[in-house]
Amino acid sequence: MLTWKDIINFAVNGNPNPDKRVEKTEAEWKAQLTPEQYRITRQKGTERPHSGALCTTYDAGKYNCVCCNSPLFDSTIKFSSGTGWPSFTQPIKENAIKYEKDSSFGMVRVEVMCNTCDAHLGHVFPDGPEPSGLRYCINSESMVLEKESVNE
Ligand SMILES: [Zn+2]
Repeated sequence: MLTWKDIINFAVNGNPNPDKRVEKTEAEWKAQLTPEQYRITRQKGTERPHSGALCTTYDAGKYNCVCCNSPLFDSTIKFSSGTGWPSFTQPIKENAIKYEKDSSFGMVRVEVMCNTCDAHLGHVFPDGPEPSGLRYCINSESMVLEKESVNE
């Protein structure tokens, strides 16, 4: 399980290697994404709180990157943080996410990105629930929920 110490270590000393890389030009991303998805994932934007479609969804499934479809989080590690953004306590696997120190807006925060395609996802904070103590605060627009198929 990752803890804040691991996150700082990744942000300062380098991230784990991803399983694969997806790289596209800005024009290719623009053609593939909605304007809001492009603004958030490729230009480090933030959606308005409580605006995201995945904010209050707790259906079972995997949350994939909207840009490259790599799995990032899953529904078992999602929790209700009350912040207005989807929140998770862990990534789906250790090398799914990359971390970078972000000093914008006069704050020092840790930015969270897709480790496969560098899509901006949100930030991670050390005030989440036990046992990890992590709170990944992620834009809905940067993910797609791949619902678990239910056998009827
Ligand atoms: Zn991605």
